[in-house]
Amino acid sequence: MKHVQYATLWVKAQVALASISGASVNCGSLFKSLELVKLSSITTDIALDNLNTFDVTATASNFLRIDHIEQLDSHAEEIAAFPERFILGAGSNLLFVGDYDGLVIYPQLKGIQVVREDQKQVILRVAASENWHELVIYCLKQGFFGLENLALIPGTVGASPVQNIGAYGVEVESFIQRVQCYDLKQQKMYWLSHADCQFAYRDSFIKRAGQGRYLVTNVEFRLSKTSNLVLTYKPLREYFASFEQVTAQQVFDRVCQVRTQKLPDPKLLANAGSFFKNPVIGEKHYQNLINLFPQLVAYPIKSEPETRYKIAAGWLIEKAGFKGKSFGKVGVHKEQALVLVNYSDDDGNNILLLAEKIIESIWKMFSIKLEPEVRIIGQ
Ligand SMILES: Cc1cc2nc3c(=O)[nH]c(=O)nc-3n(C[C@H](O)[C@H](O)[C@H](O)COP(=O)(O)OP(=O)(O)OC[C@H]3O[C@@H](n4cnc5c(N)ncnc54)[C@H](O)[C@@H]3O)c2cc1C
Repeated sequence: MKHVQYATLWVKAQVALASISGASVNCGSLFKSLELVKLSSITTDIALDNLNTFDVTATASNFLRIDHIEQLDSHAEEIAAFPERFILGAGSNLLFVGDYDGLVIYPQLKGIQVVREDQKQVILRVAASENWHELVIYCLKQGFFGLENLALIPGTVGASPVQNIGAYGVEVESFIQRVQCYDLKQQKMYWLSHADCQFAYRDSFIKRAGQGRYLVTNVEFRLSKTSNLVLTYKPLREYFASFEQVTAQQVFDRVCQVRTQKLPDPKLLANAGSFFKNPVIGEKHYQNLINLFPQLVAYPIKSEPETRYKIAAGWLIEKAGFKGKSFGKVGVHKEQALVLVNYSDDDGNNILLLAEKIIESIWKMFSIKLEPEVRIIGQ
């Protein structure tokens, strides 16, 4: 980290000198001559406390910040030497339950670029470390539509295809054309097509390949220049029912409003969003449950050979009596039972213990095994 700071200072000094002498500065060549790509180096014992929205204490034994794509090649051998690797975005979907005894790779890749456009659509290439919500705002301002339902999801663009983020009836995969990844094992850059990504509910090929294999560097989105609003999700459908016309901006505003009311802001109350995935069960299981619990919140999913049902995990957790309860310094959010919150605990294990307690209760009551959506790191 120090090397990069020195290099940045050196470049600033050169720019200042040039502005005094009136000479022009080619920053690109300055950076090249500095061989900045080689200057960043792996540092040890880096605190991750401020790099996770659960606000728990953890240390990375080894840490590498990547500011330029080229650094992936120049550090490939060093990276490969670590059998345990983990790629860190904004840390909004993680729970550290111990120190990380491997290499944390922290990409800081920025940039948004129009690759192609015509009257109807645009292909936008966005670097992995751009902030997701800011991208949604940018697109809306430019008149590039589709992402408005995904407003206010914390985190980076690079994590969006890994998790196939989704909200308010939309999943990001609908807008992803292809994903550029650096394969840290083969030490090669690839473009994964939409089909290669094998997107599923909060899942993708990149995620299934395991931690620290593919580092997303850029994501290409195909966005429409005419809005094609998705208002299927109940809170949006009901709200806009009486509107004659609805704009993408109105959908964005409503999504932000509802999310702000329902979800705790991690800056004010530490959390990582929905802790569990909504489970999916078969027809027979569903029939048994709906007989016992007529208010069960479930959404049919068309599938062969039988219809399956996505069950609202928040409803199950609320029914099991956890909503709004505190357990020491951690608890279940009072507005949204799917969100576990950390009031003031440094130790992620207490959140994990609460999650395990919930999993056990839900299993006993409904014969459903909840799975965490949040990635548990350092076990
Ligand atoms: C208040 C709150 C609300 C939320 N609401 C939603 C929601 O509505 N819908 C939803 O889907 N999610 C939601 N989330 C979860 C979270 O915002 C998303 O999963 C987000 O995409 C995580 O981004 P991140 O950059 O913080 O990733 P991190 O938490 O840092 O990492 C998540 C995973 O992605 C991997 N990863 C990160 N960057 C890269 C990269 N460049 N290359 C390869 N792998 C990478 C990590 O290794 C890890 O496995 C919410 C979280 C919070 C705190």
